[in-house]
Amino acid sequence: MTDESRNAVTLSLVSGDELVLKVDDVPDCLACDTPGLLLVRYKNAWKNRTGDEVAGIREALLCPKCSRQMPEAVELLALLAVDERVSLQNFEAFGELVAEWINSLRDNRVNEELLRAEHDQWLRGML
Ligand SMILES: [Zn+2]
Repeated sequence: MTDESRNAVTLSLVSGDELVLKVDDVPDCLACDTPGLLLVRYKNAWKNRTGDEVAGIREALLCPKCSRQMPEAVELLALLAVDERVSLQNFEAFGELVAEWINSLRDNRVNEELLRAEHDQWLRGML
């Protein structure tokens, strides 16, 4: 695909959050090696054990296979299947779906990742 209209777009959400979407040169899914459809970079913050806020940038890959298991990503996948490119016509609907998807990731992924990291450290005797 050499379509020049497929490049990075920045999406500003109502909440003031900024999502950076990449629809070009999206890496393959780490889990199943399927070419990803969309890469979203987003800010995320959580509180650590001492109650301090930790801010970070996270990336989420929309995978045509794995992401289908998330109810929040199903509509987004359906839209991308119909409108292969993001245009001004579908940008609004697209943005809302991306925001929904990312919000669902924020809710459950943070703790999971933290747990995994801690578990890792624990295994290596660092905790
Ligand atoms: Zn996958």
